[in-house]
Amino acid sequence: MQRSECQLCGGEAVFLCKAALYPGAEREIARCGACGAAFYSPLPDDSELSNCYQTAYYGGFLDKYWKDYRKGLRLGAELKRLKPAGRYLDVGCALGTMLAGVRDASGWEVFGTEFSAETARTGFEINGVEITAAPALGAAGFKADSFDYIFANNVIEHLPDPRRFLEEAKALLKHGGCLRLTTPNGANDLSPNELLWKKKGAVLVTRHGGHIWFYSERSLRIIFGKAGFETVAFRGFHFLDALKSRGLWPGALRRFEERRRRPPRRADAPAASTSQTRSAIPPETSRAVDSALALWRRLFRLPGLTFGGDFDILLRANKT
Ligand SMILES: [Zn+2]
Repeated sequence: MQRSECQLCGGEAVFLCKAALYPGAEREIARCGACGAAFYSPLPDDSELSNCYQTAYYGGFLDKYWKDYRKGLRLGAELKRLKPAGRYLDVGCALGTMLAGVRDASGWEVFGTEFSAETARTGFEINGVEITAAPALGAAGFKADSFDYIFANNVIEHLPDPRRFLEEAKALLKHGGCLRLTTPNGANDLSPNELLWKKKGAVLVTRHGGHIWFYSERSLRIIFGKAGFETVAFRGFHFLDALKSRGLWPGALRRFEERRRRPPRRADAPAASTSQTRSAIPPETSRAVDSALALWRRLFRLPGLTFGGDFDILLRANKT
């Protein structure tokens, strides 16, 4: 049994199961006995990670264009109540659809970063938001102490060095500024792989390609503290998703197995042109239905409950 050191807490991690980082790339996953985080062991480097992503990976985001835009409007309205003017950064903003919503509702200055230059350019053309293409937050060229609010939606589970990311985000925030993170509940994200490995020795690509960390609440609180953040709120959401991943929903594991065994789409699929992308945005959906659904989802975003499929976290940078 392979043992390795946990980069988050320094504890000892032992073999948990095998999984595929991308089709054909079988790897071992270890779980730390001290903080509960699981991770690919050894952690893949950037060149190996690039095999997990398609060039034009944003295609799937267009289906939920209006949902994302309105999510931005709701957050923008919250920010405006917080402060009449400010600077907002969305890390890994894809096409910047949510960013456009934040801009329209808050009047704040908004910025985005994106690792894919192609996605950044298309996002600017479609949504008119400034998106910097950069491989890492620290390389995007922003000034220290210059942001009031940074949002990183499903980012930290992809990064080989999450502590470096937190430190970079903290450097960019003003004193008292907020970092909002969403990330999968790792136990949940990895659960189908773990169950199918234990039952049948099946080695399958994880639910979302490119996830290399499977965080526990404890492991996250440890790295937030080490990076000098105060945890203001820590919530679980997506409860139905949690039941499905844990095999507690009829047929969910079988469907996971079937879907993960299908041949992958080509990694080098040609990028769509801006006009093709624009025409793939569905017609505007009903705003009333969207608001009602958002309210419904909020009921399931409960403080103190971390069973949910994802974590929603608010941190504050105290810099004195
Ligand atoms: Zn650990």
